[in-house]
Amino acid sequence: MTYKTHLTTGFLFSSILFLLIYKIELSPTLVIALILSTGLGSSTPDLDTPSGELWDKVPAGSIISRLVNPVFIGGHRHLSHSLIGFGAFAFLFWLLLKLIAPNLPIIHNSEFIILVAFGLGYASHLFADMFTEAGVPILFPSDQNRSLV
Ligand SMILES: [Zn+2]
Repeated sequence: MTYKTHLTTGFLFSSILFLLIYKIELSPTLVIALILSTGLGSSTPDLDTPSGELWDKVPAGSIISRLVNPVFIGGHRHLSHSLIGFGAFAFLFWLLLKLIAPNLPIIHNSEFIILVAFGLGYASHLFADMFTEAGVPILFPSDQNRSLV
């Protein structure tokens, strides 16, 4: 799957939840935060690919990708494409959120909603990759890839 496909899937999932199901008043700031969080979440699993399109969009991405690559045990479609990876990266995102915006407004529980947007983006990525023949090791450390095709 391509970077754009994952972004589109993430935005579709996020739009369905926030606009149709979880009807809340969204301030312009919160809308921007949700879009960025969903985009980041839908791109994060493929950070395990040093030559991935996402790294091209980050300043000094080729250097950073080689530095963080050892974190991704097993290479592409391994730890980051599992439920454990999902939990670990959601936790890291929450820590990043606390670091960047420690005093988020409590209105509409913004921090939780932004975290949900990241999670939706991430989950949509794993869901979309499960529709490929290669599948994903969703139950890592089990090496068996799960595919829905
Ligand atoms: Zn992927």
